Amino acid sequence: RLEVRGLVRRFEGKAVVDHVSLSVPRGQVTCLLGPSGCGKSTTLRMIAGVEMQDEGEIYVDGALICDTKFRVPPERRHIGLMFQDFALFPHLSVADNVAFGLKGAKEEKRARVEGLLTRVGLMRFIDGYPHELSGGEQQRVALARALAPRPRIMLMDEPFSGLDNRLRDDIRDETLAVLKDEDAAVLLVTHEPEEAMRMADEIALMRDGRIVQQGAPYNIYNAPRDREAVAFFSDVN
Ligand code: ATP
Ligand code: MG
Repeated sequence: RLEVRGLVRRFEGKAVVDHVSLSVPRGQVTCLLGPSGCGKSTTLRMIAGVEMQDEGEIYVDGALICDTKFRVPPERRHIGLMFQDFALFPHLSVADNVAFGLKGAKEEKRARVEGLLTRVGLMRFIDGYPHELSGGEQQRVALARALAPRPRIMLMDEPFSGLDNRLRDDIRDETLAVLKDEDAAVLLVTHEPEEAMRMADEIALMRDGRIVQQGAPYNIYNAPRDREAVAFFSDVN
C-alpha cells in the first residue's frame, strides 16, 4: 500500500502541490486526474524520490520512506516507473531492457523476462531492439521493464499519451490486466477523464495543487462536486 500524507511542494513561494494525501492499496489503480499544470507530475516525482517535498510523508506498506528529514533513495523504494518520455535503452535488446533492474542469477532473470514478455505478447521480439518495435510495442516492453523487479508501487505518468486512439484502448486494457496480475498499488496520472474512467478503481480529482474530490469513477462522474468538475468531465461519453 502506498500512503501519502500532507504532501506540499512550493516553487517561489507558491504551493504547486498543496497538502495532497492519498492511500492506494495493492491491486488497485488510483488515477490522479486533473488539468495541465495542476501538480500531478510533481506529486509523482516526489513519491518516486526524484524531487524533495517541502512538507509531508510517504509510506510504502506502512514503512516511512520519506519525510522532510529522512529519505530512502529512489532506487531502494521498490517503486516501478512508467513515464511517457521514459524511453527504452536503444542500445540494449528487448531482453536486456526488461532485465535492466533485475538482480540475481542469470537463469532466474531470464525466466522473469520470458514470463513478462509472454504476458505482454512480445516473446517474438525478445532478441530484437527498440527501434524494430512500434510505439505500442515499446510501451508494452516499458511496462514489462517497470514490473520486472516486482515493485510494490507503480507510478505511471501519462504513459499512453504518445499512442494513437485505437491502439490506446487496447494497451490500456492490457496494461490494466497485467497490473492486476502483479498486484502492485498503482498511481496513474492523466489529464484525460476517459482514461481515468476506463482504468481507475478510484479517481482523485486534482486542481491547483489540491485534491478536490475523490471516489469511485462513476460516483465522481455522476456527482461532480462543482461546475468546474462538470466542465472537466464534459468530454467523456
Ligand atoms: P501536465 O498535465 O501538463 O503534465 P502537471 O499536472 O503534471 O501538468 P506539474 O508538472 O506537476 O503539472 O507542474 C505543476 C506546476 O508546477 C506548473 O505550474 C509548473 O510550471 C510548476 N513547476 C513544476 N516544476 C517546477 C520547477 N522545477 N520550478 C518551477 N516551477 C515548477
Ligand atoms: Mg505532468
